[in-house]
Amino acid sequence: MKNHLVWLRNDLRILDNPALSAACSQDDAVVTALFIATPGQWKAHDMSPRQGDFLMRNLLALQHALEDRGIPLFYHQCDDYAAAVKWLTGFCRQRRVSALFYNYQYEYNEQRRDRAVEHALEGHVVCQGFDDGVLLPPGSVVTGDGKMYKVYTPFRNAFIQRLSQDPPQCLPAPARRDNGEKLRAALEPFDYPRQETDEYPAGEEAALRRLREFCHHRLAEYPQARNQPSQDGTSRLSAYLTLGILSPSQCYHRLIAACPQTLEHADSEGFCWLNELIWRDFYRHIMVYYPDVCRHRPFIPWTRRVAWRRDDELLNAWRQGRTGFPIVDAAMRQMNDTGWMHNRLRMICASFLVKDLLIDWREGERYFMRRLIDGDLASNNGGWQWAASTGTDAAPYFRIFNPTTQGRKFDEQGRFIRRWLPELASVPDKFLHEPYLWPLAEQTGLDYPRPIVNHGQARQAALAAYQSAKAQGPASPRE
Ligand code: FAD
Repeated sequence: MKNHLVWLRNDLRILDNPALSAACSQDDAVVTALFIATPGQWKAHDMSPRQGDFLMRNLLALQHALEDRGIPLFYHQCDDYAAAVKWLTGFCRQRRVSALFYNYQYEYNEQRRDRAVEHALEGHVVCQGFDDGVLLPPGSVVTGDGKMYKVYTPFRNAFIQRLSQDPPQCLPAPARRDNGEKLRAALEPFDYPRQETDEYPAGEEAALRRLREFCHHRLAEYPQARNQPSQDGTSRLSAYLTLGILSPSQCYHRLIAACPQTLEHADSEGFCWLNELIWRDFYRHIMVYYPDVCRHRPFIPWTRRVAWRRDDELLNAWRQGRTGFPIVDAAMRQMNDTGWMHNRLRMICASFLVKDLLIDWREGERYFMRRLIDGDLASNNGGWQWAASTGTDAAPYFRIFNPTTQGRKFDEQGRFIRRWLPELASVPDKFLHEPYLWPLAEQTGLDYPRPIVNHGQARQAALAAYQSAKAQGPASPRE
């Protein structure tokens, strides 16, 4: 008997799911799906309670969607990947699984886990992995001599060329099947902290609705609106993409339907959004070629030598949104309250922690993962290393955001700031970005901190720290 097991991980959908499609491609096979919760591993990976909650809700939605197709979802909880490998090996043998199907995850620990499973099942179970969660598979966009690009723009140019020659396909959901025993395991809540949010309804339908709504109604405004945190100018799809409730190919096809000239016109609104999806792919491809980034090592070796400051007071002020820089504080409170932060603000907050406070970017990377509903190793690490000038195609270290002018530029009228910092509601526009200069601040009892650093001095200190690190030359990987 053909007994097919689909191991679902970051691909919680039935549409455009290569592993699920392949498992269902033979009518005479019995197909079961499996999800293994690994709370110990998630904790080590700093998964946020908001993502934990979103994951659970999506698993329930997926269970229903699969059952509608006659495919039971089996659920098991282990602590970490090592335990998962052991349990899965036993499960496959005991259930006489003939073939195991899964979509690749490109992170270091996940790749090691999969190698261990393949090794343990060798000779007993056929293991079939599939590229997923990317528009184009890692390794398919490389330089003429077969190397991974280290800089984004040439990568993107080659990527677009490849996309137009060989666009990604979208696979249909598997047909309903009714050919086997029904293996059941109640989907019990896993042992992981959960924090609810009603801004992200669960399930593929909800994700597709959001995608359609964005492409129909907001894509045209995206190039202007995407940098204005006070506007609802971006798709808010990242949480769905992170858990694979939606695939990048689904986004691509919907985008091309809404804006058919996307690939040909770099000034089209479609191109602008596609560009963000390509950034997402870029960081995934980088992760495969430079797995050290998964271990939080800087991409540029000499930046290992930057003498970071250890200061819990400053770090906590940043975490809590009490730095005295309104755009930074409003953004941090948005993330703390909702689990999401606008991209422009992620850049500003990251730059502030690293360049103004001179605190190790890994502290920020970790804190973001612990708070974000869309926390994703590749994009988060890529974004942090970009801001810290330690990564691929990073901002040069001497380019340092001024948080006050960034605030003025991207939240000119202070709508976003006032929404998240109600204590600044009565501060006149003129002083909103530097409330400590407002002559009436004391008189009105303004309850808002003075800036915790002087930006000009902090900038000089950061330049000196980076220059000194660079002068010492490259550090060995073990440093
Ligand atoms: P849209 O503007 O609608 O973009 C569409 C999709 O493209 C997003 O959903 C996302 O999947 C992808 N995307 C957009 N911008 C980027 C980018 N700069 N890099 C990679 N992919 C991008 N994104 C995450 O998904 N998870 C993270 O943990 C994460 N951490 C970040 C940390 C820092 C310091 C920075 C600067 C960026 C980070 N990003 C992260 C990227 C980006 O901020 C978010 O993807 C984006 O804000 C999500 O909102 P959206 O879905 O409305 O994006």
